[in-house]
Amino acid sequence: MVVDYGPLMARIIRAAAETIAENAQHLTELDQAIGDGDHGVNMKRGFAALSENADDLAAMPMGEALKKAGMTLVMKVGGASGPLYGSLLMAMGKAAEELKLIKPGDLAAMLDAGIEAIKTRGKSDVGAKTMLDVWVPVQRTLATAAEAGDDAAEIMRKVCAQADAALEATIPMKATKGRASFLGDRSIGHPDPGGASTRLLIHTICDVLQADG
Ligand code: ADP
Ligand code: MG
Repeated sequence: MVVDYGPLMARIIRAAAETIAENAQHLTELDQAIGDGDHGVNMKRGFAALSENADDLAAMPMGEALKKAGMTLVMKVGGASGPLYGSLLMAMGKAAEELKLIKPGDLAAMLDAGIEAIKTRGKSDVGAKTMLDVWVPVQRTLATAAEAGDDAAEIMRKVCAQADAALEATIPMKATKGRASFLGDRSIGHPDPGGASTRLLIHTICDVLQADG
């Protein structure tokens, strides 16, 4: 079976840009609480740039498209999150290079490579109240569900539920990485902004895939 990922890729990029734009104010407010209040505008700028290039990206092989998208995010998002989201996508692209057909298990492996890149770039790990606290449990859920042979709808249901729970779980955490760490104990009681954008992106991807059947 040969799947044409192009149109799907374009839909995901455009939907992600829309979701981020619609929620930019919310992301900014979350970052105002424990950071410098630029996460919404940073993400909106980066994803608008991706959306402008959606057709070009969609015409590329998956691995190349992810790497190009990652480079775009590094350049356009800025802040701490630009290089982190950029590293995620570039590493996922590298992991996808050999793949012709992407199954849920492959996606879990790609995401695992992307997470390692975030850890390296951010010199961080789970428990520091960052986007990793959403990406890591989501990756585990995806890998476990794929291994169990769950169907696509069930995998997406579990992944989205995990993204919600993981973001919620960042609220009581004390930040030890990124700007929020400057607040020490005062970072407790707020969700992590990068975790919130991660959750939004995961939901968007699931929505597009579900609509695609
Ligand atoms: P900045 O912190 O430079 O203003 P943003 O506001 O765009 O950048 O992004 C902040 C988000 O980046 C945080 O909420 C967190 O999820 C993520 N982040 C910051 N530093 C790190 C790090 N060292 N490792 C992983 N994620 C990080
Ligand atoms: Mg910020």
